[in-house]
Amino acid sequence: MEKMVYFFGGRSTEGDAGMRDLLGGKGANLAEMANLGIDVPAGFTISTEVCTSYYESKGKYPEKLRQDVAGNMKKMEDVMGARFGDPENPLLVSVRSGARVSMPGMMDTVLNIGLNDTTLKGFIAKIGNERTGFDSYRRFVQMYGNVVMGVRGEAFESLLEKKKKERGVKNDTELSASDLKELVKEFKAVVKRETGKPFPEKPEDQLWGAIGAVFSSWDTPRAVSYRKLNNIPGGWGTAVNVQAMVFGNMGENSGTGVAFTRDPATGENIFYGEYLMNAQGEDVVAGIRTPQQINIRTKKDPSLPSLEEEMPEVYKSLEDIREKLEKHYRDMQDIEFTIQQGKLWMLQTRTGKRTAVASIRTAVEMVEEGLITEEEAIRRMEPSQMDQLLHPMFDPKFEKKVIAKGLNASPGAASGKVVFSADEADKLGRKGEKIILVRLETSPEDIHGMAVAQGILTARGGMTSHAAVVARGMGKCCVAGCSAINVDYGRERITVGDIEVKKGDYISLDGTEGEVMLGEVPTIDSEILRIIRDKMKPEESPIYGYYSKLMSWVDKVKRLGVRTNADTPEDAVIARRFGAEGIGLTRTEHMFFGEERLPVVRKMILAPTDEERKKAVDELLPMQRGDFKGLFKAMDGLPVIIRLLDPPLHEFLPNHEELLVEITKLKLEGGDKKKIEGKEELLRTIEKLKEMNPMLGHRGCRLGVTFPEVYRMQARAIFEAASELIAEGYNPVPEVMIPLVSHVNELRLTRKDTVEVAEEVMKEKGVRIKYMVGTMIELPRAALTAGEIAKEAEFFSYGTNDLTQTTFGFSRDDVEGKFLPVYIDKKVLPENPFAVLDQEGVGELVRIGIERGRKGRKGIEIGICGEHGGEPSSVEFCHRVGMDYVSCSPFRVPIARLSAAQAVLKERK
Ligand code: PEP
Ligand code: MG
Repeated sequence: MEKMVYFFGGRSTEGDAGMRDLLGGKGANLAEMANLGIDVPAGFTISTEVCTSYYESKGKYPEKLRQDVAGNMKKMEDVMGARFGDPENPLLVSVRSGARVSMPGMMDTVLNIGLNDTTLKGFIAKIGNERTGFDSYRRFVQMYGNVVMGVRGEAFESLLEKKKKERGVKNDTELSASDLKELVKEFKAVVKRETGKPFPEKPEDQLWGAIGAVFSSWDTPRAVSYRKLNNIPGGWGTAVNVQAMVFGNMGENSGTGVAFTRDPATGENIFYGEYLMNAQGEDVVAGIRTPQQINIRTKKDPSLPSLEEEMPEVYKSLEDIREKLEKHYRDMQDIEFTIQQGKLWMLQTRTGKRTAVASIRTAVEMVEEGLITEEEAIRRMEPSQMDQLLHPMFDPKFEKKVIAKGLNASPGAASGKVVFSADEADKLGRKGEKIILVRLETSPEDIHGMAVAQGILTARGGMTSHAAVVARGMGKCCVAGCSAINVDYGRERITVGDIEVKKGDYISLDGTEGEVMLGEVPTIDSEILRIIRDKMKPEESPIYGYYSKLMSWVDKVKRLGVRTNADTPEDAVIARRFGAEGIGLTRTEHMFFGEERLPVVRKMILAPTDEERKKAVDELLPMQRGDFKGLFKAMDGLPVIIRLLDPPLHEFLPNHEELLVEITKLKLEGGDKKKIEGKEELLRTIEKLKEMNPMLGHRGCRLGVTFPEVYRMQARAIFEAASELIAEGYNPVPEVMIPLVSHVNELRLTRKDTVEVAEEVMKEKGVRIKYMVGTMIELPRAALTAGEIAKEAEFFSYGTNDLTQTTFGFSRDDVEGKFLPVYIDKKVLPENPFAVLDQEGVGELVRIGIERGRKGRKGIEIGICGEHGGEPSSVEFCHRVGMDYVSCSPFRVPIARLSAAQAVLKERK
């Protein structure tokens, strides 16, 4: 460590923006601004290496440090034209932390160092205001006493409160200079009493006390836990910035403000900011005085002048700086400035945080302005911001009262009256009422209620639970697995602690955060969504223009195809508008639950003979044919994967317990004997079909092997639908998918049936249909024997929901409400593996399966249709392992497209 201290300001700046690791973000950017010829109050940065060495040597500074700091203080004094500790013309300094990455509020800052009873007089003379002088002194003693000397904050606060009471005033600002003078004395006495040490008078001691405090704040428990949470290595250390103070409260030609180089809410290319005359930085944010807008264009209140009017010259310099910074950083900046007696000083610049709308607008406009490339625009878009652009969101003007948190199962925002049953939801929803469907968990029987609800809240179930998957498919907001709420169906209420929400009360859900809130928080539909849903014309929406432009760049870059998981033509149409290139999964079981279908499905399951089963199956055929025609039409010309029936049959039968209760009631009431017998028969069938582990039971292709007529009916419906459409001039591209295969023989058998039916139908109709038969890879054995399986499969689609379940041995429907939160909390697992693909374990099986599958059949089409297909880091993985496409719910299609392009760009880096 040759050099420990780096000067900035004036012409002798030693650092630059590239030295972030050594100087921290703040120090590097201050140096960079100084290099650009922008006036920053002079100062110096003690490097992060000093911090590391300070810890290694148990709190001792390197030998030369004192000398280097003294030299740099001298330089600072020369540039600023004032002396540290000078009674007439005192220089005051701030000491602030600054790590490589911003850790907001985690570490310490001390302002106004250098004030004491002697320098105060010179300071007051300089600023020309006694009250401000004493107020700065009071704040300094309080801050220093607390941060450096460890006196409890309340000790000072209670004295301040007492003083205000004595004076009969409410605000700090109403205290007089002599009140503040008394407070300084009282504060110093508290320091003495609590620490046994006098408050340091010597500026030199004050400075070193503050530097030590900032270094030590790197290792406070709150900083350590913040680092842990954000994966920031402790070895990075913090830099310390010592900088000359400038004052915005030196009279009417002074002021201070914050600004963004573009509007952070809309992204519009206008200079946007607020300031206050004769004030200090914290006054702008404290909200006691109303800040003014910096320019005429953004003025809200005509009675308040803008900086452009009050100080045109200063405003002009600020505009020049804005241009300089944007050109230099090539991104929107968030800046802080102070005007001290007519002179403008820049205190900070950093990348500005912005809304999703602003993000996409600035990215696209900066490409058009020639500031950045199309690729950089793609890199800058956060996938989560893309989410915000699509889903309805809460009006940010309203405050949220969160009562419970669950899983953020499907993003968006929703408000409505609480109802507890799908039927009731359906009834009220049809009347146009806004409702939230609250269930312990949902099942396919609840679909009609979910479809009309604004949002869905469940107490159980995880990221791949029925509620989560279906809500995502519908683009509907859902908070799942919210175990903090007690759902009482009987009394029709939810309780959380002593809060009670009755049926008909309003609640709001934030599916992006997983939050449940009391009352009705108003929502706004995103513009893009309104266009997708035909409620607005694309040309009326500039945001849509930016979105489609960015997406056209995305499509030029990405290699992965993006399909959608859709069960209805409506979803398929939406997905196609979002850019889906086909369907990667249709869960046909979702078609079995329609009002007129369920009785037929039950007839099929309960049939005592093969003949009767065949009859019921035949009844289902035309219905399914209609379903598939709708899907093929919506995706005309694009591949549509239809998966044959997957779930265990008992899911289509009434609930065992409910039926038992019904029968008992009927018996007690002396009900019709025949009816009772019928119900008892049904109960016996349910008991027969009931399994200990239905997820590992008689489902998937196991149904196709044992009840071939069901799969054959579905295959017939698929090929009949395709034939009819070809005759009508359409171009259907069916791909038939067999679920839950673990042994190649299962596929051999079911595939043979499918091909036989396909040939039969084509012969009957006199058409040729281009089609494929393939399988899901969703069990470890399938992945391991993929070479064999590929000989029978023209495509693979990874079902990573079941593959995660069976690789971990975690039940996908229970895990998230039970031990998973603890696992994540205790860092046993980094993330929920049902949401974010476990690349090391499950991903390894995926990789092996692809490798062996491609050996077994050259050019085999490979994709993914588990919920991971729309999650950015998992999409990147799918790109890396060479899949052909990902498939996800319609609303995640744009996110998957963006992530696929970002995956390509990551490789280019
Ligand atoms: C899967 O298991 O990943 C899958 C897509 O199928 P399902 O979620 O319907 O079991
Ligand atoms: Mg599955």
